[in-house]
Amino acid sequence: MKKIICSLFAAVLLALPLASQTKVIAHRGFWKTEGSAQNSIAALEKAADAQVYGAEFDVWVTRDGVAVINHNKDINGIVIEKTDYEDLKGEKLSNGETIPTLKEYLKEGARHRKMKLILELKDHSTDKNDMRAVEIVAELVKDSKAYRRGQMEFISFDYEMCKKFAELFPDIPVAYLNGDKSPSALKKVGIDGLDYHKTIMAVRKDWLREAHNLGMTVNVWTVNKDASILKMKEIGVDFITTDHPVRAKELLEQGE
Ligand code: MG
Repeated sequence: MKKIICSLFAAVLLALPLASQTKVIAHRGFWKTEGSAQNSIAALEKAADAQVYGAEFDVWVTRDGVAVINHNKDINGIVIEKTDYEDLKGEKLSNGETIPTLKEYLKEGARHRKMKLILELKDHSTDKNDMRAVEIVAELVKDSKAYRRGQMEFISFDYEMCKKFAELFPDIPVAYLNGDKSPSALKKVGIDGLDYHKTIMAVRKDWLREAHNLGMTVNVWTVNKDASILKMKEIGVDFITTDHPVRAKELLEQGE
């Protein structure tokens, strides 16, 4: 009898998705700190100093095909997609750095080999530009040390871009940001994770369970308040993307 109960207990344990610790991703690098700026090389370095799981950053491609790091479609009013690199390369971030190229960013990122580089490719103005951006980014990533070291991950709000990344890089985690597709629908096209707004995951616990049962990851953004960080930990998401990576780490590591 004892033996049967033990085997039943073991079977139940095996059937449960493995509980994993919630990890921290620094949103646009660690920028809310002295000398830093969103999507800067300094923010990447400071994220590494904070020993987070990953640094997230945003990528646009210029008219002449240079991938640069920036969140908005424009830098200081210059629309990246409609401008040649030569005409925006001198543009400054708020900490005085010039706008980084993806090539520079990946090179710097590879120096911090324990940290993942979470590359968000922005949704460009046309489908044609979207696919061109994926190809340009894919080439740069394939040539990078960060890729060879297994540091790369891709995210996008654009479903087609995610699908294309999943097809080109079956070895790299790809997560979808737009919050409107079920885990099984994403899994079917090779996408490995959900990276949804925190309010969606707070109510779609079924998606969280479904994702974990399918071996997919769940990330939430942008989780800044202490109470939200703790709530997301309680729900059991795998990653939180935050503007407060040091505080988030502190909270998540409490009681371990
Ligand atoms: Mg982003």
